[in-house]
Amino acid sequence: MNTENFASFYPLSEGLVTMAYLVSGIFFILSLGGLSKQETARRGNIYGIVGMTIAVLATFLSGKVSNFELLVPLMLGGAIIGAVMARRVEMTSMPELVAILHSFVGLAAVLVGIASFLDPGHALLEGSDKLIHEIEILLGVFIGGVTFTGSVVAFGKLRGSLSGKPILLPFRHFLNLGMVLGSIYLGSEFLHQGHDAALISLLIVAGISFVLGVHLIVAIGGADMPVVVSMLNSYSGWAAAAAGFMLKNDLLIITGALVGSSGAILSYIMCNAMNRSLVNVIFGGFGTGSGGSGGSTEIEGTITETSAHEVAEELKEAKEVMIVPGYGMAVAQAQHVVKEITENLRGKDVNVRFAIHPVAGRLPGHMNVLLAEANVPYDIVFEMDEVNDDLPEVDVLLVIGANDIVNPSAQEEENSPIAGMPVIEAWKAKTVVALKRSMATGYSGVENPLYYKENCRMLFGDAKDSLGQVLSGLN
Ligand code: NDP
Repeated sequence: MNTENFASFYPLSEGLVTMAYLVSGIFFILSLGGLSKQETARRGNIYGIVGMTIAVLATFLSGKVSNFELLVPLMLGGAIIGAVMARRVEMTSMPELVAILHSFVGLAAVLVGIASFLDPGHALLEGSDKLIHEIEILLGVFIGGVTFTGSVVAFGKLRGSLSGKPILLPFRHFLNLGMVLGSIYLGSEFLHQGHDAALISLLIVAGISFVLGVHLIVAIGGADMPVVVSMLNSYSGWAAAAAGFMLKNDLLIITGALVGSSGAILSYIMCNAMNRSLVNVIFGGFGTGSGGSGGSTEIEGTITETSAHEVAEELKEAKEVMIVPGYGMAVAQAQHVVKEITENLRGKDVNVRFAIHPVAGRLPGHMNVLLAEANVPYDIVFEMDEVNDDLPEVDVLLVIGANDIVNPSAQEEENSPIAGMPVIEAWKAKTVVALKRSMATGYSGVENPLYYKENCRMLFGDAKDSLGQVLSGLN
């Protein structure tokens, strides 16, 4: 069949297309709702797929799309690359995949903006219609440009191709402000210039936004990148919404707004859980590669070491066991042996529960995904707030490669860099066993007094090896 005629042969009425877009929008909202919980995440993904399929079909059949011979192979190629990448990606590389995908959204918004300006339809607009359309173009190009290069830098830092250390140029805040003011000035010129001069202004705004995106993100430490990726996620949503306005596409506006607001809410939740403001993350230069800026005070006291054998004996005696996993469990890839220990203990009628801190690990939901990968039942995995009150009844609490999220200084030391950060009150359990390789600090660079408490024992070594020995002891 001649693909040129495809759309004109089966065009849907405008009302039906709008209806289909509305249905897609509802599926996207259901998808986001589903993705917020582990039990419903799979269903959430399916809703998203259905919504997107309806959206693509409705767009194809709207009668407004031509060039199918170009579009179909490009979409198929993109779908194949996407499917292969999604199958191959390791859980630990997920943030970098997300970052690079955001960069595509940003670049698309820039290209849509420039194309909308060059579109002959633009010349026919007049008065306030023209003004509004041009403001949409400017916003789309600017936000898209920052998102594009910012996400590329975030991708490079997460991948390790770029240094995780923040690059802090002198007067960087003034440089940023200068770039924003320069763009506003050029934008106002763009609105009343002739076509060619306006195009040049628009391209310069695009160029400035590219530089601003790089400059903003190189100043942020590698370990803060997950928050930044979630923020760039929000930017990419707003860039898509701006593209939706330019293209007069309601669904793109709805989807962009959903992505923009959910990204902003996630960034807010992550910052709250770290007790940091978004401004502190964006401008503070807090994360410095593998560790933070520290500011720790020396702790006086002694630590008590234990052995895998002893821990196994204590677990055998216990009735209530709680496991607090952290970044170290991900590094050690210890989730499978954790699952085996859990099964073993449950077989002995021990009540085993997991306590998950909202920012345990290095990306939101990091621990939940690892535990799900190891098939740990969902109903024994709890959020911090659900278990903090039960801690005094816990006989043995295993802290597996977690540090900041169980640090009492967040509550006890006013001047600590993590003061006020909500933490799992592990020290309230009857016995605490902390598994880590050394006395090194965690991400925030703050010493942890938990390890010096009377009821805490240190089990040094790689978490996977140590837990393997504990499991042998249990058997
Ligand atoms: P931390 O970084 O505080 O601590 C991880 C601990 O794991 C380290 O103390 C390390 O000690 C230990 N560890 C590393 N490798 C191993 C291994 N192979 N075996 C055993 N132990 C190991 O992680 P938490 O999960 O406790 O806290 C997360 C931190 O990351 C918080 O400060 C949070 O604010 C921050 N963050 C979280 C984000 C998120 O989205 N989740 C985003 C950005 C930052 P040792 O070297 O001695 O083994």
